[in-house]
Amino acid sequence: MAEHAVLATGKSSVTAERIQEVLDRTPKGLLINGQWREASDGGSFDVENPATGEVLATLASATPEDAQAAMDAAAQAQADWARTAPRERAEILRRAFDLVQERRDDLALLMTLEMGKPLAEANGEVTYGGEFLRWFSEEAVRHYGRNASTPEGNLQMVVRHKPVGPCYLITPWNFPLAMATRKVAPAVAAGCTMVLKSAKLTPLTSQYFAQIMLDAGLPDGVLNVVASTSASAVSKPIMSDPRLRKISFTGSTPVGKQLMKDAADSVLRTSMELGGNGPLLVFQDADLDKAVAGAVAAKMRNMGEACTAANRILVEESVAEEFTSRLAQKLSELAVGDGTLEDSTVGPLVDANALESVTAFVDDAVAKGARVVTGGHRVGEKGYFYAPTVLADVPEDARVSCEEIFGPVAPVITFTDEDDAVRIANTTEHGLASYVFTEDYKRAYRVADRIEFGLLGLNLGVISNAAAPFGGVKQSGIGREGGSEGIEEYSIVQYIGVENH
Ligand code: NAD
Repeated sequence: MAEHAVLATGKSSVTAERIQEVLDRTPKGLLINGQWREASDGGSFDVENPATGEVLATLASATPEDAQAAMDAAAQAQADWARTAPRERAEILRRAFDLVQERRDDLALLMTLEMGKPLAEANGEVTYGGEFLRWFSEEAVRHYGRNASTPEGNLQMVVRHKPVGPCYLITPWNFPLAMATRKVAPAVAAGCTMVLKSAKLTPLTSQYFAQIMLDAGLPDGVLNVVASTSASAVSKPIMSDPRLRKISFTGSTPVGKQLMKDAADSVLRTSMELGGNGPLLVFQDADLDKAVAGAVAAKMRNMGEACTAANRILVEESVAEEFTSRLAQKLSELAVGDGTLEDSTVGPLVDANALESVTAFVDDAVAKGARVVTGGHRVGEKGYFYAPTVLADVPEDARVSCEEIFGPVAPVITFTDEDDAVRIANTTEHGLASYVFTEDYKRAYRVADRIEFGLLGLNLGVISNAAAPFGGVKQSGIGREGGSEGIEEYSIVQYIGVENH
């Protein structure tokens, strides 16, 4: 077991003045009907830097009355917004894309400061998150319906799309920009108005992004943003408002289930992007260099705090020892430290709860017989850093085998053959991302047919793209974001039967 993780020792690439400038440019209020306002009761909350535990900024905390005002603004703006030309909506999105590129350094720094990810990864998220704006600006003008005769030839069928109406968008803390753009961009493209509720751990990026949407020309009331310390209190008036037509939620499965129950009362359209428990399968015929690189990417992106993370590394017995030692070597070489340090490749976990949770996962696995190959400990006393960890000999009943870890811990579990690999992979209520490493394409497609996951990386550890449909099956959710499917989630289909002429 490695005693110490490699520590990032490089210089910080940002000064205290630069940090202050970016924070000063970030709105701190609630965005309601085009205006940034204080909370109705004057309430606020602090946002911390997980690398230092220091307070970065203080934001207005929405009350239920503020949430109602945001919902009112969205409802009032809906009719006019639905009538705008698709080209006008497309151009707003395209301008927002350009502004995201211009202000990329600010957005990346904000994400590193509030969430912890190293600057290079935060820049990657600006690229990925920004692409939803460009993609849906292009989709907005190509969202065609159809026109055909009935089979009997007795009437003409016109099938067309209309915006679903005011939407409630709830985002998690782990990808503060991409989770917002992945919902806001298709909603704007389809002609919907919305209330966005960001996560209280990382609201700053959404605040900054909302200002970009205003600067790009989005009319007042189309996008309203409410950050709050009490998610359930602000959600109540919105979810029970009869003018709400849709909820799109990204977050944990238990909260998603609760929101689906709440949505049932008014039969809301729902999109649910929920938790994952991704398997990464390495067959004996895999190219092990590719498999190790893919496992590092799929496990360590975002410090493992990703719904698409490879949660369980399943390796065929004959190559397990070699694969495990190579993976451990690579993970032990990563440099742990504040994301603003030039050489940092692994930032802190998001908060003290996350650190406690990851520690408990590893303790449980070790108590059930797992062996720590590298890592397995906290790093430093300040901030919430945890060493990249590889566990071997992990039993199938350890918590790391069954639950979403959300941290830099790679449990290696062995399998005997293809059937065994598919059985273990599917032994979870989740079905979001999966990864398969094999050089045998017939095997790859056989496994793809049998594996119950919405996403599959074939010899790849990262596959997300704005042009691809993203989403899960089973308890990982309902609906797809991105791709040509993404705009459908914000549209209703209307059929008009027209008399023959
Ligand atoms: P979370 O469920 O705790 O919170 C997500 C959001 O829901 C936050 O904005 C939170 O404030 C809000 N929320 C919490 N309780 C609520 C309630 N009762 N009513 C309304 N809103 C409520 O999840 P998290 O910890 O922020 O994010 C991590 C989880 O998100 C993981 O399970 C991860 O897999 C999942 N996730 C999924 C995807 C995906 O696309 N499938 C992407 C990223 C994260």
